[in-house]
Amino acid sequence: MFAACTLHQVSPHVWWFTPEQRRDRPSLAAVVGARETLLLDVGASPVHLGAFLAALAAKGVRRPSRAVLTHWHWDHVFGLGGFAGPVISSRATATQLARMCTYDYSDAGLPALLADGREIPFTCEHMQRELTDADRRTLRLRVPEAVFADRLRLDLGGVECELRHVGGDHAPDSVVIHVPADRLLFMGDCLCEEVYTEPRRFTRERLLPLVAHLEEFAADIHLLGHAEEPISGAEMRRWLHFIRAAYTSLDQAGLKAAELIRCELSARHAAETVEDFWPAILAGYRVP
Ligand SMILES: [Zn+2]
Repeated sequence: MFAACTLHQVSPHVWWFTPEQRRDRPSLAAVVGARETLLLDVGASPVHLGAFLAALAAKGVRRPSRAVLTHWHWDHVFGLGGFAGPVISSRATATQLARMCTYDYSDAGLPALLADGREIPFTCEHMQRELTDADRRTLRLRVPEAVFADRLRLDLGGVECELRHVGGDHAPDSVVIHVPADRLLFMGDCLCEEVYTEPRRFTRERLLPLVAHLEEFAADIHLLGHAEEPISGAEMRRWLHFIRAAYTSLDQAGLKAAELIRCELSARHAAETVEDFWPAILAGYRVP
C-alpha cells in the first residue's frame, strides 16, 4: 500500500501536503501570510489539488489567492484547471506550458507524445492512473499570468517568499521557493536527475551551479517534490557534500577508477545517498 497524501504544518507559515507514489503525486504546500495564502505547485490533477484545498479549509487556512509553479512537468501542473487565481512561474516554465496547451494528452494522443520523447512511459503510466481519458480530453492548461526571469519576492503580509530560478538537470526551468522567516525551502524536483532521456543522468554544468544555489539558502527544512519526509539542513549538507566529493574524486582518479571511487564514497556516505546520486553522476560524467 502507498501512503495517501496527508496535511502537516511543518513551520510557522507553511502547510505541506505529502506526495503519493502510486499516481506520482508531488508535494504541494501553502505559505500563509497575514494578507494572503500562496499555493506552491498546483498538483497532478484538479482532484489532487481539490483534496489539498479541502484539507487546508478543514484546518481553517485562508484559501490560496495565487499559485507558483516549480517546473513544467505534468504532475506539478495538470491541476491548473482547478485553480482560478493568477499563476506565477519562470519565463521558461511559461514557454513550456504554452507548448503543452497544444498537446493532446488523451489516450489517442499519448502515442505521438511518446514517439518523439515529449513524454516517456513512466509519465504516461502515472498520468493515466491520476486522470481518466475523459479528464485528459478536457484538461485545462494555461500559460501563467505572471512570469519572472531570475527571481521574484512576494510579501504575503508578515512573511516573504523568494522565488528563485535554479535550473538543474531535471528541468532547466526549475524554481525553488524560499521562506526565509521559516528557514524553509520548497524545492520541487530540482535535485532529481534528467528523466526524459536514458540513461537518467546528472551533468556537472547543471548540477554544480544548483549545489551552489542550494548551499546559499542554508535552510533547515527542505520539502522535495517526491520525498515522504522533510529533509533537514544537516542531511541536505551531507547530500551536497557527496555530490562535490564525487566530482572531485572522478576528476582526480578518472572514470577507470569509478568502482573504487564508489567503494570509497560508500565508506564515508550513507548507502541511500550513494544510490540516489552516484549512478546518474557517473552516467553523465565527462572529463572537464
Ligand atoms: Zn519533475
